[in-house]
Amino acid sequence: MDRQDVIIIGGGASGMMASIFAARNGLNCLVLDHNEKLGKKLFITGKGRCNLTNNSSVDNHIAHIVRNSKFMFSALNAFSPQDTIEFFNSAGLKLKTEQGNRVFPESDKSSDVIKALSKLMSDFHVKVQLNCEVLSVKKAEDYFKIKCVNNVEYTANSVIVATGGLSYSGTGASGLGFKIADSFGHKIVETVPALCPIVVKDDISNLNGLSLKNVGLTISVGGKSFYEFGEMMFTFNSLTGPIALKLSSQINRLNLNGATASIDFKPALSHEKLETKFLREFQEQNKKELKTYLNSLLPARLVPYFMQKVGIMNKKLTEITKQERLILINSLKKFDFLLKSLDNINVGIVTSGGVDVKDINSKTCESKLVKNLYFVGEVLDVDAFTGGYNLQIAWSTGYLAGNAVKKK
Ligand SMILES: Cc1cc2nc3c(=O)[nH]c(=O)nc-3n(C[C@H](O)[C@H](O)[C@H](O)COP(=O)(O)OP(=O)(O)OC[C@H]3O[C@@H](n4cnc5c(N)ncnc54)[C@H](O)[C@@H]3O)c2cc1C
Repeated sequence: MDRQDVIIIGGGASGMMASIFAARNGLNCLVLDHNEKLGKKLFITGKGRCNLTNNSSVDNHIAHIVRNSKFMFSALNAFSPQDTIEFFNSAGLKLKTEQGNRVFPESDKSSDVIKALSKLMSDFHVKVQLNCEVLSVKKAEDYFKIKCVNNVEYTANSVIVATGGLSYSGTGASGLGFKIADSFGHKIVETVPALCPIVVKDDISNLNGLSLKNVGLTISVGGKSFYEFGEMMFTFNSLTGPIALKLSSQINRLNLNGATASIDFKPALSHEKLETKFLREFQEQNKKELKTYLNSLLPARLVPYFMQKVGIMNKKLTEITKQERLILINSLKKFDFLLKSLDNINVGIVTSGGVDVKDINSKTCESKLVKNLYFVGEVLDVDAFTGGYNLQIAWSTGYLAGNAVKKK
């Protein structure tokens, strides 16, 4: 194959986006991906519905980016959440905005997002080579040699690295982008899981699958504490669901030795209000068993675990001592688990860390160390909370590089 104007390594969200804008500017453009199809990770986003952006201001996006939000300022202004919405609308994809300004395809099908991108790629004559595992990129005078398996080699004047992070290896995540960056002298910031279940030391296997709404979750670690309110879930060994995932991204670089997670089951009620409620209801319902009473305050599946952990066996309400009543109240407000670690990076929704943005031009995503080499998407040391913010990072950085790359 002749030398390409640009080769894009990775046919995920950021790579597809970059290819569309590069090709639209008239560049001869080839996308390489070792998967058998494009957008394999995109397909599973948003539980198969693809929360493709958040319909909110650039400032709000910046506020939801955990690492290097300032770096994203230019990219988000150049290709904003509103630009993403317009881009997909004009590609014929109808969108809808749900709670929390989360934007989804109206069809609820992530495959429609992939179809829209693939159609644009085809309209602009982007070439795609699937089942093509890239091994390395080398600079040869003023162009790049891209080495793939089976001794296949491609050459290009520019390269856009869009290989993503390390999470969900089944979707093609390989860490290749970090190796490429490292081989060109880029610093790689240690990669750790983000938006990842938090594994606890306690045996919570009986709670597997149980979800809690409107609870407060506090993580205390090394004298710091982090709080989120909302919905969470238990797995057989970890805390997960929106608020646990969000907290994981805030504690993923801290030493979790001795750290605790505390659930406030009744964030709307102070200790004092609970005390008043208990005193009144214990009198009114004095013949009731504690277990039956707790069933009105907690999900029934949680009650046996709660009672066992609190150490108060089943008694009639009338038999509960003052001290036991205070223990019950304190435990409803602060139910502790000892943290072990975050789960494996492979099950994190995104990877934190990666190519250090200090050596990347924030206006183009071009390497400051190597001309005509670009890094976009999750391979960069940028990650955000859930809500469509991570895909917006992929769209915006993909757009920047695709638009910046020039024909020689
Ligand atoms: C379960 C799940 C749900 C998610 N849901 C959402 C959501 O609803 N909203 C949101 O904003 N974000 C979501 N995300 C995050 C989002 O998917 C990522 O941030 C985004 O896909 C990153 O895009 P990317 O282009 O950088 O990487 P990717 O989409 O991962 O693409 C990288 C591509 O590079 C290819 N590649 C890697 N190595 C090689 C190699 N050696 N040779 C050739 N090709 C290679 C891979 O096959 C892959 O296709 C979710 C993530 C997960 C795991």
